[in-house]
Formats: sequence, C-alpha cells, structure tokens
Amino acid sequence: MKDRQLGRVRFISGDNKGRYPFCHSVYIAGEKERIVIDPACSLDKLKLLQQNEGVDAVWLSHWHEDHFAFLYLFSDYPVRISPRDYPPLTDINILLDWYGVMREDQRAFWRKMMLNQFRYSPVNNARFFKDGEIIDCGSVTVEVLDTPGHTPGHLSLFFREEKILFLGDYDLTSFGPWYGDVHSDIDETIKSIRHLQKIPAKIWITSHEKGLFEENPGEFWQRYENIIYERDGKVLEFLKQPRTLEEIIAAWLIYGKPREPLFFYEFGERALVTKHLQWLEKQNRIIFDNNHYCLIQ
Ligand SMILES: [Zn+2]
Repeated sequence: MKDRQLGRVRFISGDNKGRYPFCHSVYIAGEKERIVIDPACSLDKLKLLQQNEGVDAVWLSHWHEDHFAFLYLFSDYPVRISPRDYPPLTDINILLDWYGVMREDQRAFWRKMMLNQFRYSPVNNARFFKDGEIIDCGSVTVEVLDTPGHTPGHLSLFFREEKILFLGDYDLTSFGPWYGDVHSDIDETIKSIRHLQKIPAKIWITSHEKGLFEENPGEFWQRYENIIYERDGKVLEFLKQPRTLEEIIAAWLIYGKPREPLFFYEFGERALVTKHLQWLEKQNRIIFDNNHYCLIQ
C-alpha cells in the first residue's frame, strides 16, 4: 500500500493495511501550519516526517488508541481534538470507563496495554475544534465535520481545495462500523454515515484497510450501513428463543466465530451485541425479562 501526495494533503498508509493497532494518517503541509492527523500509521514513517518535513501540530479525529499510538513522538506539540472526546485523553481511568471495562482484572490488563503498547500519557496541552469550524492552514482550507456515533466527538475533515474527505473511522470496511463504547450510538452512526455521503468530495480517505478511494465509494456506503441491520437481524433470529446475555455473546453473532486474541474479540463481541440489545429494546422489539432477552411478538 503506497503513500500518496494529493496536492497539499498526503495519505500516509498505516502498517498492516492500517489495521488495528495502526491506522492510516494524513499530513497537511499548509503554508501556515503543518499538521499530522491521527499519528498511528507507522513509527518509522512518522519519525521521518518529523525529521524531514516538520510538524507543527497534531490533530486527532477521536480518542481511540489506534489513532494516537505514536502521539508520544509529538508530546511537546499542541494536540487538537473535539472537546467531547477529550476526557479519555486526560486520565487513563476515564479511558477505561469509556470503553466500559469495569472488572478490576480486565482493567488491569487494558491499563497495562494502554501504557506499554500505546504509551498512554495524559494530554494536557489540548486545543479544541469548534463545531463546523473552518480552518485556514495556508493554501489548505479544512472544514471540520461533526460526525458522532463511533465516539461522541468523532470528527471528519473536508479539505476544500483538493476536495478530499477524510472519513476517519467510518471506514467502509467489510467488518462494518464500530459503536461499542459506552458513549457510542447506533442512531448517530447512521446519521453520520448518511451525512458524509452528501459531501461533494472527489477523493475519500478512511482510517483503516483500503484507505484511499479515488472514485466515489458508491455501493460501499450502503453496504457499510446495511451491516448494522444485518447484525440486528442475527440478534433477532437468535432470540427466537429467550436467551441470557452470556448465551448471546457466546454465539459470536457479530464476529462470526471466536478470534485471537480472545480477550480482545470477546470484549468487542460483548460491546457490540450489548448496543444492539439496547437499540432493539428502545424500539420495543425485545424485552429483558427474568434474566432473558425475548422477542416482543
Ligand atoms: Zn475508532
């Protein structure tokens, strides 16, 4: 996967196709400011970028660790993020709370991973994006698009001159959208996917996998949104008999089968399935009764 210079905007492909724990990064070489967005593509590439071309500031599309993995290289630089996604960057306990990791043994495990693998360190020098802000970086004009759902403060960015739309974690992958955190929201995710489709872009950048779309993603949009309804369908099918939460999780309805590392995917399965159960309850399609989820006929 190649890096691409697109006018003053550069697509920097992440290691392992930008799959977790990596993502693709974006670099903008404005005349006023040079900015790296989501510094988690590749340690070597980011070191070279810093040494050879220079970086003035870091922007984060949202608070997830696979977008700040190499932020420690830029610890003296100003960081900009949505104020709604800032709390987890200020305190590792808030980050664990926002992921919904409550059991003490699991918290210890995730805490260690955040500290060792992602070198988590509280960010004290954050600046905030304003809703709908338009930022002039010098020959690069960036429109900040509020796209909640994946996280409450997730931002997408539209680079006006190049007509490039950075979608962030609305990544159009075949796995589908993530909305498994405590503050993630399925309805907001759908709204954001639909909003992004309407932006008059010519090139689309996502944070993971394919990463660069030089033609309109077309059917990828609908396919991506449909994954939400397919997940819902699987949950409803499984609830033809009443089931406990643990039975539903053990059926691997979202991931299809157990995957390694198990603790990681079990966490993901639980998180996403729980969101679907809450969503279906809200729509009065299921009820929780006597420790079992049941269809409302
Ligand atoms: Zn994310």
